[in-house]
Amino acid sequence: MQCFECGGQLKHSVTTLHLQKGGKPVFIENVPVTQCEQCGEEYLAGPVAEKVGELLDKECQPQVILSVPVVNYKMAV
Ligand SMILES: [Zn+2]
Repeated sequence: MQCFECGGQLKHSVTTLHLQKGGKPVFIENVPVTQCEQCGEEYLAGPVAEKVGELLDKECQPQVILSVPVVNYKMAV
């Protein structure tokens, strides 16, 4: 399989997805993806995307709670 963006070689990798649940950010770590070695484009397989959707739907116990700095562009600039 080749990258749809640049035609580069794809390799198996893991990524952290940054998602939203009820307006709050949720990170899902260690998600298996195929990633382009050339441009870094990540591809999520159908079944993996489905599982991620299920994870977001049900209340799962987070392994880690992060406090995240948030900068408001309008106030900071
Ligand atoms: Zn690529």
